[in-house]
Amino acid sequence: MNVSPTRANTITRRRVSDKSRAGAQRPTSETDSINSQLSTLNQLLFGIVQGGTFEDLRKQSTQAIVELDFDGYAIGGVSVGEPEEEMMRAVESAEPFLPKDKPRYAMGLGTPPQLLEMIARGMDMFDCVLPTRLARNGTAFTDTGTLNLKNAEFALDKRPIEENCACPACREFSRGYIRHLVKAEEILGLRLITLHNLHFYLELMNRARAEIERGTFDQFRKTFVADYKTRDAMMIE
Ligand SMILES: [Zn+2]
Repeated sequence: MNVSPTRANTITRRRVSDKSRAGAQRPTSETDSINSQLSTLNQLLFGIVQGGTFEDLRKQSTQAIVELDFDGYAIGGVSVGEPEEEMMRAVESAEPFLPKDKPRYAMGLGTPPQLLEMIARGMDMFDCVLPTRLARNGTAFTDTGTLNLKNAEFALDKRPIEENCACPACREFSRGYIRHLVKAEEILGLRLITLHNLHFYLELMNRARAEIERGTFDQFRKTFVADYKTRDAMMIE
């Protein structure tokens, strides 16, 4: 069946809108009850903003979810294959309607530059498979982009994955040795890259926090994003 772009757009809009409304219809008393149960467990309940790539539906969904008064707010349905520009716009459409005093969570993101761009757009929290998934593929994150440690260029490289990195992999092992482990299918190689990547992501967030406190985050973001380049096509699948 041929579906015209306009018709497909209408169907998608309706689905997104129904999803938002279903969330919005939940009675506040139920949210209150869940909130109070969770507070005894030291956990927080987040509402999830939907709305796809439609600015008006993002706004509508955000307002409906915020009305239910959650502990924090997540932005869902981003990083699902849409162009980065649309992902940024989806977050920008929701952000002005989120309360300033509650945490904001951008779900399923992202590359190091994307995280900084999201922080610049008012996001506080993230979750992402990239540091561990790419590590299992032999790829390490650095300030200047990714390194594919399976490449022959690293065979005799005595430097750590990243100079001045305090992670267990960089303190003790060279790129050449880690490459040897990966090529020999010794699982320690992938574990070391995983340790480095997790350390790198957590450190990036620590640095972002410190730069925000110093009032220099914007400059930090611009410099980081400009210096970061992906050395190899990122094999996310
Ligand atoms: Zn490291």
